[in-house]
Amino acid sequence: MPNNLPAVTCASSNRSSVALARGSLFKFVGLLAGVFVLASCSLIYLARDLDRNEEVESAFYTRKAVQALEKSLRTTVKDYAFWGDAYRHLHVKVDPDWAFVRQNVGPTLYSDFGFQGLFVVDAVDHTVYSVIEGELQSVAAGEWLHQALPGILAEARAGAETETATTTFVNIAGVPALVAAAAITPGTDPTVVPDGRPPSVLIFVDVFTDAKLAKMGEEFGINQLRVATPDEATSVFALGDDGSAGSLHWRPSTPGARLLAVGLPLIGLSALLVCLMTWAILRRTTAGARVLDASFSTLKSSQDALATSEARFRDVVEASSDWVWEIDRGGRFTYLSDRFDAVTGLSGSTWIGESINALLSTELGTLTQWLSIPNRRPDISILCYFVDSQGRQRITRLSARDMAGQGFRGTATDVTEEVEARRRIEFLSQHDALTGLPNRTRLQEFLDGKLKAVPTAEQPLVMLSLDLDRFKPVNDLLGHAAGDFVLNEVSTRLADCIRNGDLVARVGGDEFVLILTDVSSQDEVEALCQRLIESIEGPVLVGDQEVFVSASIGIAMAPNDACEAAELLRYADIALYEAKAAGRNTWRFYAGEMNTRIIERRRLENDLRFAIKHGELKLHFQPRYRIADGQMVGAEALVRWQHPERGLVPPDVFIPIAEESGLILSLSNWVLDTACHCAVLWPEHLFVSVNLSSTEFKRGNLVERIQKALKDSGIDPGRVELEITESVMLEDASGALEVMRTLKRLGVRISMDDFGTGYSSLSYLRAFPFDGLKIDRSFLNRLDESEDDKAIIRAIVGLGRALSLTVTAEGIETAEHLKLLKAVSCDEGQGYYLSRPLDVDAFNDLVSVSA
Ligand code: C2E
Ligand code: CA
Ligand code: CA
Repeated sequence: MPNNLPAVTCASSNRSSVALARGSLFKFVGLLAGVFVLASCSLIYLARDLDRNEEVESAFYTRKAVQALEKSLRTTVKDYAFWGDAYRHLHVKVDPDWAFVRQNVGPTLYSDFGFQGLFVVDAVDHTVYSVIEGELQSVAAGEWLHQALPGILAEARAGAETETATTTFVNIAGVPALVAAAAITPGTDPTVVPDGRPPSVLIFVDVFTDAKLAKMGEEFGINQLRVATPDEATSVFALGDDGSAGSLHWRPSTPGARLLAVGLPLIGLSALLVCLMTWAILRRTTAGARVLDASFSTLKSSQDALATSEARFRDVVEASSDWVWEIDRGGRFTYLSDRFDAVTGLSGSTWIGESINALLSTELGTLTQWLSIPNRRPDISILCYFVDSQGRQRITRLSARDMAGQGFRGTATDVTEEVEARRRIEFLSQHDALTGLPNRTRLQEFLDGKLKAVPTAEQPLVMLSLDLDRFKPVNDLLGHAAGDFVLNEVSTRLADCIRNGDLVARVGGDEFVLILTDVSSQDEVEALCQRLIESIEGPVLVGDQEVFVSASIGIAMAPNDACEAAELLRYADIALYEAKAAGRNTWRFYAGEMNTRIIERRRLENDLRFAIKHGELKLHFQPRYRIADGQMVGAEALVRWQHPERGLVPPDVFIPIAEESGLILSLSNWVLDTACHCAVLWPEHLFVSVNLSSTEFKRGNLVERIQKALKDSGIDPGRVELEITESVMLEDASGALEVMRTLKRLGVRISMDDFGTGYSSLSYLRAFPFDGLKIDRSFLNRLDESEDDKAIIRAIVGLGRALSLTVTAEGIETAEHLKLLKAVSCDEGQGYYLSRPLDVDAFNDLVSVSA
């Protein structure tokens, strides 16, 4: 029996040491499994969170997009409804000729704005005017909208007093649409007397077509925006109070899902590797334990197994890029893994015993405060900052576990690069890549923030809209690299002119917006504008060439002019437009009447479009005479506009509008055709000269248009002269030369108009194929006052002669003028003294008398 004892002891100790070894390994495996599960859970949580954020953000932008649309529609319907003319022609009496045929409130609303429906509902709620998709139709608004109207009509009329429009969402046969309505009132027109009936209501309907939604989505960065189908439950935006008008659906991007697709397989793979390793370890430890136990050293064997397991744990810990830490209850380090030294470059041994707060700082108070938050979730980590051995700030993500009240332990992962990359992306999304200035997105955020702080009259928010003058030629002549260089230089100069806390943003090619918050007086703003312009006007050295640009500035202020970002921007732009019109290189403060002027201009543009189509334009001809013998040699065609209400509008007023709106092409075609058709009937020795606008040179097919006018009328090209101004050459010299050479090949003559008002560069006269030059009438105007001008006229005539150009003097108003021109042997002349511009009949009479 005593012999058996050792055997029994052996058997029992054998079982227990193998179990011990296995037990500690299982614990370790358990721990690792825990770590992997934890990592997977955090990853899934993070991914969900990312996707949720994306969903919330895209929903936010969708709401913004819809609100922006509502606002713009309200503004548009307001513009049309609070207008004396509309009151006269759509309420007092319904006049489809004024509204539809003359396009005051007609098909352009469909072609330009895409409003499918347009209705006027009268005082007793009858639809009296309807335009569907640009066609005049007679259909009741309620019927077309599948909708009862009293609600929106009442609301629109309620807004008549305060001039506010109303909008609502409706559903037209399954498609959502936005309806805007406003009562038609006389606006500020003092000549209209209200007739006492309830006001009529103007209704615009904007149907949400796929194309429109796609464009709207594109503008706001919303993916695949479209009308939602009824079974879609997520990423939907309900239109109307309860979604009764339908909903919009979009597809938010899913960064979380992408993260999972990469992260989860990686974790799985690592887990598999660890399993394999553990299996191998288990096999070896069990075998080892058995051998050791067999030689009665049970205690030692379990210690060895433990040591092996610890060693492996250490290997795993040291193989990862993270470092492991432990602190005691007082927050002092008791353990730092070897990786600490490698990752941070600091010495772990000197940090043992030091406070964790001394090493790591957070944005949320001290680390020990964070660690002692009651019920802190152990899976939540925190970003900490420390300075590494080279004095650079590093960022680390710290996770921590409570050691049963004995302190904490956890891991620290270096995430400096990751965080910096994210910051860089954030920076790029808010800044302009070329100049590094804030972009529109950043500007919007900055403005929203400043406007939330409610600026006051004493502490206003000042917005400057700044646009470079003469920048385009830099790009065209010196190339885009030079253009970019100039933009960068200008950006730096602008940024140097403003204070800390203010903002300069680049919002377009050569457009900038500046926001100032610390200015108290108008004088201060003016002084700054002066400084800005002076600093931009300084030469920019591109290579060895000096380039000059300048700037115009428009100014709007909150709260005086507006309190909303979009309105401020619009007003600053309007003021900028005025500054440019005032001759550039200057600044203008926004004033209420500027807006009225722009609306007025828009109406004039509409009227002009109508005028060109419906024959309201007339041509007058002003004879040109040879000065030596008083013979008529030809006539200049001058366009006139007989406006049914405004009377005769002079070309100085409507030509610039035609140039800006693009109407100049059809206007000029009409002038060319009419002038050629008239002149072909004159005696053969008379020519006709036609003014061309400089914008026509840029628009391609000028040569073809002139060819066509010549061919259609059958006139001899030698009897046609084209008058162009110097601005043509200033804008694009090489392009202009090309066009002029081709024109010359057609056989027409070309003269330079208004010589003496621009740069009057001699080189142009020499380098371009001109046949004649016309001295601007301002020279003759000043003749009585200035001896100098006499000398100048003499010089110009001499110059013309030297270059074989026919010199014509414009604006001959007196017999003295004529005498002087004769004395200096000026070739030809034109002016009120000789003949005013005449209508076609009067001109033909004159020609037949002198024939
Ligand atoms: P412009 O080419 O310099 O035309 C001459 C202008 O001087 C005409 O004014 C004419 O009526 C006016 N004028 C003629 N003799 C005298 C005079 O003795 N004294 C004074 N004070 N003025 C005189 P209008 O017709 O008002 O035209 C103004 C400008 O409008 C023209 O200046 C021209 O630049 C532009 N314009 C006129 N018709 C056309 C056209 O068909 N196409 C284009 N693109 N521009 C046109
Ligand atoms: Ca002319
Ligand atoms: Ca002229």
